[in-house]
Amino acid sequence: MKKVDAGGGWPAIRYTLRKAREVGGWWKLWKAMRSRNACKTCALGMGGQRGGMVNESGRFPEVCKKSLQAMAADMQGAIPDSFWNTYTIEQLRKFTPQQLETCGRLVTPLRIRCGETNYRPISWEEALGAIADKLRQTEPDRTFWYFSGRSSNEAGFLLQLFARLYGTNNVNNCSYYCHQASGVGLSSAIGSGTATVVLEDLEHADCVFLIGGNPASNHPRLMTSLMHLRRRGGEVIVINPVIETGLVKFRIPSSVRSLLFGTKIATTYVQVDIGGDLALLTGVAKRIVEMGAQDKEFLQNHCEGVEPWLQSLAHTSWDEITAKSGCTRQDIDAVAEKYASAKRVVFSWTMGITHHVHGVENVQAIANLALLRGMVGRPHAGLMPIRGHSNVQGVGSVGVTPQLKQAIFERLESHFKISLPTTPGLDTLGCMEAAERRELKVGFCLGGNLFGSNPDADFADHALQQLELLVGMNTTLNTGHAHGLAEDTIVLPVLARDEEPQMTTQESMFNFVRLSDGGPARHTGPRSEVEVIADLAARVQPSGPAHGPFDWSDMRDTGAIRQAIARVVPGFEQIERIAETKQEFQIAGRTFHEPRFATASERARIHTHTLPELRGGDRQLRMMTVRSEGQFNTVVYEEEDLYRGIDRRNVILIHPDDFERLGVAPDQTVTVRSETGELPGIIATPFEAIKPGNALMYFPEANVLVPRRADRQSRTPAYKNILVTVE
Ligand code: SF4
Repeated sequence: MKKVDAGGGWPAIRYTLRKAREVGGWWKLWKAMRSRNACKTCALGMGGQRGGMVNESGRFPEVCKKSLQAMAADMQGAIPDSFWNTYTIEQLRKFTPQQLETCGRLVTPLRIRCGETNYRPISWEEALGAIADKLRQTEPDRTFWYFSGRSSNEAGFLLQLFARLYGTNNVNNCSYYCHQASGVGLSSAIGSGTATVVLEDLEHADCVFLIGGNPASNHPRLMTSLMHLRRRGGEVIVINPVIETGLVKFRIPSSVRSLLFGTKIATTYVQVDIGGDLALLTGVAKRIVEMGAQDKEFLQNHCEGVEPWLQSLAHTSWDEITAKSGCTRQDIDAVAEKYASAKRVVFSWTMGITHHVHGVENVQAIANLALLRGMVGRPHAGLMPIRGHSNVQGVGSVGVTPQLKQAIFERLESHFKISLPTTPGLDTLGCMEAAERRELKVGFCLGGNLFGSNPDADFADHALQQLELLVGMNTTLNTGHAHGLAEDTIVLPVLARDEEPQMTTQESMFNFVRLSDGGPARHTGPRSEVEVIADLAARVQPSGPAHGPFDWSDMRDTGAIRQAIARVVPGFEQIERIAETKQEFQIAGRTFHEPRFATASERARIHTHTLPELRGGDRQLRMMTVRSEGQFNTVVYEEEDLYRGIDRRNVILIHPDDFERLGVAPDQTVTVRSETGELPGIIATPFEAIKPGNALMYFPEANVLVPRRADRQSRTPAYKNILVTVE
């Protein structure tokens, strides 16, 4: 497949026209995209009350292929009942993630029990009745509640409240498998776990670091901000084991000049070895100090832990740094010089930083480097984890975590006059491991694909099969509906965000809360998430400790839920009247334009680290699982990966220089093995863009090879830096 020379451009425009034809014409697609609903895909944030395709700076049109793919998926036709007679579960197991996604919209509750061969469409009454019965018979702490970051704040708040009143804290969300290390790392450095900047800061920065990610594929509108930065003469420093097409050049379709001539994105591109980021970031800091370019006054007045760190930098040799990063002194010096001459710097990163056993340390090292030159706690500079799902931050904010923040715990109890369970809750990996030990009986998933997102897919399949009941609330099919089925599995069809009968809210990665209008349902059958949860809760009538029946009927109204959120969640006071005022808002206390941090001392904390060795022997590769341009998280919309020039997903991308030492030939069919599993039928594909010694495979298919080894601080599994052999 011919590799494109840039991201975006005419292929994106042609794709849009193709999608418009698929969904019934461009006008239909335009109206859907222009509706006042927050974009359903990534957390960069688009849409809401300013109208679809408008970003937080009010810029229009701001739309991308990812947003179109999610919308077109929701505009699919209904899966006919005959489908469930036609396809057995065995056949569905052979469907690819893309084939499952494009089967159409789920419109009827489905059930399959152990020993049955096909899903059966059932009534809502049977579905909710069966779930309620099971929950009433089960000890609450033998259940878990998993949330995807696509659901609304209202659905997230309501389901976590129900689970806790039911009696368990086994409540967690998909960020445990992606950006939890960002939350933990940032909280340990500045006392707050989200971006310290707003979009406007990015629009005034003169230098942006892009570390361990490919936003050209997964957050394409970020490229518009980088185009404007480049046009202001700014620097873009990319750190990535792969030279990603869209991070070198991007053709922004909404800019004629960029569309015709392309926009160069990266001004400096450093290929680090997988697992070498901590050493590289430490090296850049060491060079800045050697150059005397650190902000001594800022460190003195606004940071703690500085001295031990400066000493460790001085004592860490350049040999150790270059050996453990895989980068040369020239690479490191080039980055340090660009950084030292910049005045307003934003550091951004994604899962190339968080998907490691030292993910939290990686995030702390980024914070260290930013603090070293006083680039946190002032306008137009700061820290910006590039989050995944469009409301992953929101569900976390409204209480979807195993352990509630003390303030939220106390306010929930006082607001609802209830007492909440205090038993420690399990995180996502903890729930999976407890399920495998048959300590859990019921799993409830609000959206997402828990099976698909798990490391060690064989373990995940077996663990979920140990459950007595597994419930999923989804709009379309995914691999989790074919694998990892419990003794009894029930799938509930839900409405998409722009089909909701009531207004809902979402929070972007810039801590901005949007109001989505919802809209007309496209199909009869699916129900709103809030309605399903309130209905189930009313049936179960959880009688948690020391309180009488709870009036769940109130909680069918998203306005009433927002009233509760306003009372319970610090910084969300304005959400109470957002439906009337239409005033979308910045969450208070999250953006740092002054060097007074959310730590007890109001000082930022600098952390000192021991650099991890680079892993891998002669016949091994350091493999990382990644998303292609044709997917978003576990959802695969297109088999091809346009920006990497790859037309299939059963591949391992290897640098041409590595084939000889591995003893395989280019395009040979191989079996890839790791300590956890093996994948036969994989094409060993030459890929110049990756640094020798490293390899790239697609998530979630390659999760069979991913061990359950997790960062001890974030409990996020290491989907990167997996040692594999190819035979
Ligand atoms: S960049 Fe993200 S928020 Fe913006 S349109 Fe694309 S998917 Fe939506």
